[in-house]
Parts: sequence; structure tokens; C-alpha cells
Amino acid sequence: HDRPLDGAVALVTGASSGIGAATARRLAREGAAVALVARRRDRLDQVASDIAKLGGEAVAVAADITEPGRADDVVQETLDRFGRLDVLVNNAGIMLLNPALHTTVEEWDRMIALNVAALLHVTHAAVPHLIYAASTSPRQVADLVNVSSTAGRAARPGSSVYALTKSGLNAFAESLRQELLSERVRVSVVEPGAVDTELVNHVSDTTRDAARRQIDGIEALRPEDVADAISYIVTRERRVAVNEMLVRAGDQT
Ligand code: NDP
Repeated sequence: HDRPLDGAVALVTGASSGIGAATARRLAREGAAVALVARRRDRLDQVASDIAKLGGEAVAVAADITEPGRADDVVQETLDRFGRLDVLVNNAGIMLLNPALHTTVEEWDRMIALNVAALLHVTHAAVPHLIYAASTSPRQVADLVNVSSTAGRAARPGSSVYALTKSGLNAFAESLRQELLSERVRVSVVEPGAVDTELVNHVSDTTRDAARRQIDGIEALRPEDVADAISYIVTRERRVAVNEMLVRAGDQT
């Protein structure tokens, strides 16, 4: 039987773990051929082979998208392999939580480099191809999904620059949404609450404990729950545009 994304091609950044890996698997199940982008090749190969085992199509594109030129490369490699690009999921991100007094500017720079600069570079490379895909696909639509955060809506102590990157992303996406409306490229943001992933492994020890305490005793979301939201957005018919989805854990304040 027909699946909603049969014939479509998706590129997912940060597809080696967490939300990105779950999203790649899910979009493949919906029929899309998927380009998997992240730095850890072994983890990408694992996701790709899982997808292949289920009869799907995926290619691992190992790249650090913060390096000059790599954002263009990953889009080009997707086109070389699959010939088009219908869905871009901007998901790769890091969260380094520390109060301004106790952080380093290097931590701030790393978040800006990935959550903002690399995301912009991938988006800029992809937009012409999304427009082309929307005009040539039988579905007459393409999608640009951005993984933001509840931190994009409410800033808390210790998350100043992380919140800056995510609230800035929301503004960027809203502007782009209006620009691309007439091109039939839908632009959306998904704002997850607490999700059980490797994200908190990258924060410093003290803030990791604080972050864990925050979600201690509540059942966090699973990466598949966010993949579910993304899948809902990109499988809608052309007349529907889901611009924003805020998905918190059930017990999360
Ligand atoms: P993970 O740490 O599991 O995933 C992050 C992904 O980004 C990994 O695949 C990582 O792969 C990739 N990545 C990191 N640096 C680079 C780089 N320089 N170039 C290419 N890829 C890179 O965490 P999540 O799944 O939780 O995070 C995904 C997104 O979800 C992030 O944008 C995060 O801000 C957001 N989010 C997460 C929440 C949560 O509670 N977990 C809540 C709200 C939003 P590799 O290391 O192999 O490069």
C-alpha cells in the first residue's frame, strides 16, 4: 500500500542518536529515503542498517556541519545520492548549561556554532532544492522542520545562550515560513520538553545533576514521541500547515 512519503527524500541532521535517529527511522517507515548527518559514522551506519533491514533506504553522511563548507557538502551529497530533497529536519544541537559567571565563552561559541550558524548554513543550501521539490512532487509540498525547545519560549537561569539559540531559531523559522509560503515549502518548529537522550551527557557535572533533578521523578519523553510529532507535520496534505508543536512530558511543569 502507499505510504505518505513514498518518493520523498529527507535529510536529518543529528541523526546518530536521540531525536534525530528516531526521526530518521520514522520518516523511512513513512516511505522517505533518508540522508543521515552527524559526526559519529559508526552510529550513523547502525541507524542506516536498521532502516535497510526494515526495507527502507538510507545513506550515512558523516560530517561536522560546523566546519566550513560541510553544510553545503551534506546537502549536495544527499542530492547526488537521491536526486532531490523534500524534507529537511534541522535537529543537530547541543545544550551546555552553566550560569554566565561560571561558563566560558568557548561553551557559548560552541552552541552558537551548531544550534545557529550550522543550522543557517544547512538551511541556506537546502532552500532552493526544497522549493524545487515542492514544485515537482505529486504532493506539491516540501517541509523544513526545526527542532527548537521549550527553552525557546521560556528562559531559565543557566540556560541563557541555549535559550538564545532556540528563541532565535523560532524567530528565524517564522520569518522563513512567511517567505516560503508561496513556494509551498512549509516551515515549522517543534519544541520538545524533557526527552531522554544523550543531550544532558554533554553538560558539566554540576549542571547535569541539576538537569537530571529537574526531570527526576517524572517520566521523560522518548525520542520516538518527538519523531511522532515531526512525522505528523510532514505527512499532512498540502492544504494543512502545522507551524508549531510544543510537546512536553506529561508531568512536566
Ligand atoms: P543528542 O545529543 O542525542 O543528539 C544530538 C545530535 O546532534 C547527535 O546526533 C550528534 O551526533 C549531533 N551533532 C552534534 N554536534 C554535531 C556537529 N558538529 N555536526 C553534526 N552533528 C552534530 O540529543 P537530542 O536528541 O536530545 O537533541 C536533538 C535536538 O533536540 C537538539 O537540537 C536539542 O537542542 C533538542 N532538544 C532536546 C531536548 C531534550 O530534552 N533532549 C529538549 C528540547 C530540545 P554526533 O555527536 O555524532 O555528531
